[in-house]
Amino acid sequence: MSTWSLPEAQARAQQLQLTIEQHNHAYYVLDDPSVSDAVYDQLMLELTAIEAEFPALCTPQSPTQRVGAKPLDAFNSVIHTVPMLSLGNAFDEASVQAFDKRVHDILLQSGLLQRTLMQPEEGNYDLFDGASSHLPSSSAKNGSNTLEVTYFCELKLDGLAISLRYEKGLLVQAATRGDGQTGEDVTANIRTIRAIPLRLKQPAPDVIEVRGEVFMNRAEFDLLNQAQKQRGEKVFVNPRNAAAGSLRQLDSRVTAQRPLRFFAYGWGALSIEPKDTQAEMLQYMALLGVPINAKQNKCVQGALALINYYQQVSQIRAGLDYDIDGVVYKVNALNAQRVLGFVARAPRFAIAHKFPAEEATTILIGIDVQVGRTGAITPVARLEPVFVGGVTVTNATLHNEDEILRKDVRIGDTVIVRRAGDVIPEVVGPVLSLRPTQSLPFEMVSSCPVCDSAVERLPDEAISRCTGGLYCAAQRKQSLLHAVSRKALDIEGLGEKLIEQLVDRGRVHSLAELFTLTVEELSAYDRMGLKSAQNAIDAINEAREPQLGRLIYALGIRHVGETTARDLALYFGSIENLLKADEAHLIEVNDVGPVVAGSIVRFFAEPHNRDIIQALAEQGVQAQAPIPLKIGNLAGQTFVLTGTLETMTREQATEAILLAGGKVSGSVSRKTHYVVAGVDAGSKLTKAQALGIKVLNEAALRDLVQID
Ligand code: NAD
Repeated sequence: MSTWSLPEAQARAQQLQLTIEQHNHAYYVLDDPSVSDAVYDQLMLELTAIEAEFPALCTPQSPTQRVGAKPLDAFNSVIHTVPMLSLGNAFDEASVQAFDKRVHDILLQSGLLQRTLMQPEEGNYDLFDGASSHLPSSSAKNGSNTLEVTYFCELKLDGLAISLRYEKGLLVQAATRGDGQTGEDVTANIRTIRAIPLRLKQPAPDVIEVRGEVFMNRAEFDLLNQAQKQRGEKVFVNPRNAAAGSLRQLDSRVTAQRPLRFFAYGWGALSIEPKDTQAEMLQYMALLGVPINAKQNKCVQGALALINYYQQVSQIRAGLDYDIDGVVYKVNALNAQRVLGFVARAPRFAIAHKFPAEEATTILIGIDVQVGRTGAITPVARLEPVFVGGVTVTNATLHNEDEILRKDVRIGDTVIVRRAGDVIPEVVGPVLSLRPTQSLPFEMVSSCPVCDSAVERLPDEAISRCTGGLYCAAQRKQSLLHAVSRKALDIEGLGEKLIEQLVDRGRVHSLAELFTLTVEELSAYDRMGLKSAQNAIDAINEAREPQLGRLIYALGIRHVGETTARDLALYFGSIENLLKADEAHLIEVNDVGPVVAGSIVRFFAEPHNRDIIQALAEQGVQAQAPIPLKIGNLAGQTFVLTGTLETMTREQATEAILLAGGKVSGSVSRKTHYVVAGVDAGSKLTKAQALGIKVLNEAALRDLVQID
């Protein structure tokens, strides 16, 4: 429930109706959508919710009450004898369950479920596995009388709906859905589609209107777009729009060249008595020679089986030749379909279960700024929670000031949020037609929200930075987190919460001070028992002899990533040598250019950074120099280390193998090239011998990586 007053709701509903009308025009009439389907769906959902809460706003003109759009004048009109409707949508399992419950309750009340309970039907409901199903039915599983509705499940093809009228077996007219009542006559174009029979197999009824989807395979769509591009012609957004654009051509010779396909899933006018079920009707159409999606259609019982079908289809979706945007569940028994009937624009006996959208719209409540390790200020969008890409998103990155201004996102805007796969959610942009009247453009903060230091942006940089350096608690926390991270000093047990407390209480100001912590004091911190405190201190102690490369990386010098740090370690051999190096010297290191060299020199010129190096030494932190080696060539070779090595540590051996281009793995498999066995080598050695993998002793390893 919203907290809106009627006038507020009315204003929003009107904005939404106008916006949706514009999108409908672009999509249905121009075949050139202006937003993604997910965004469109979300706007529709919002309007539907407002209209449900304020029924007075739901006029017959509202897009929630109407199907598609008016047909184009360029085509002759066809009045549908049986309207061509849309489908209700379910976006989650709860809505599917609610749909099943609604259907179930109505059918139970009407006696349809009860009746079939007397003659329970057993068997396989797969459409083409033999058994035809007279449903709804009951499944008296394990003696329990659960009455479950039987549904016919289909893929929701992403194309456009078409009605094909056959009289005495001959195709006489083909029409688009249009606004559901009146469509466009596209007979000449439809005749060019090879998948559509011009003549049905006999015996055909006097009249049958076959309804289904015209669509385009993905591979064929790609080829078409390539060709369009080469000819300098319009490129289509997706196969759906390519199919729609191809079918609604004024010149049918153009349609003839487009690779259009067709599957039937329904019917309109019919001069004979229909069969008993959806499944049988489709089977009947298949016998007449009409293509149906026999391989994927399926009969199942109850809501759980619907969800199961959906999950199975989700798994095969990427491998299908064509795009689908969900699945469709239809009550199988036609007498039950008749009882359930229709609502404004869709049947009550069917629902489309759509795949989770990768985009959604929501309200941008605010823009926070976060301060990173190097002082970089990142604006973050605070969003009204929205379900997108399978998760609820409340924050999304906005990258930087320019990005916000370029996208022109403002607080209060309805924004499009995108989360594809595991990618971090991002704000794509605002829906301008829904912008509140008094919105203001974003302004970057001029002082740091954490330490109040000035925020500065260099002329050639996109990023604004807090100038507080390590005075800024936010930067201190981030730089400590970086220093203890896995690729740096790898100190487990020092998590974000603990570091936050250590900085906030003023206990730790620099990396060196981490090495002064004790078990007693750590155990007094929030959520730290004696054991976790001990573990943290053990991890800190283990980090007192880090590889030099890791220590350099841990310092967090700008532009010095893990690989550069390792190269610097190899070249200079000690932190003291690195400290003394000037730019000219640094540039001699592999992959180090003037920018990196300048950044290193500036870092060590800062007295507080030198102090940290000094303090680290005072705390007994002794970096281990990498073993000097001539670069061997072990590219593509995988090593496994086992047992204790005598002249080098595991870390050193690993480092040497990596530097020589090899890889080190933790377990032995057929893909392992060498197992290096030290003293007391265990099961890995046994496994290597069993698999016939070459076993090296320490000396052989040294030879191989060419350690002097
Ligand atoms: P719909 O596409 O959600 O569902 C109805 C349609 O599904 C039918 O008309 C038919 O064409 C198709 N369909 C595919 N397989 C089917 C099957 N097995 N059984 C029955 N029908 C099947 O509804 P709609 O009213 O055609 O269009 C609304 C949808 O179109 C929106 O949800 C959105 O995805 C898209 N749209 C997008 C924009 C945009 O701007 N991007 C604008 C308008 C509509």
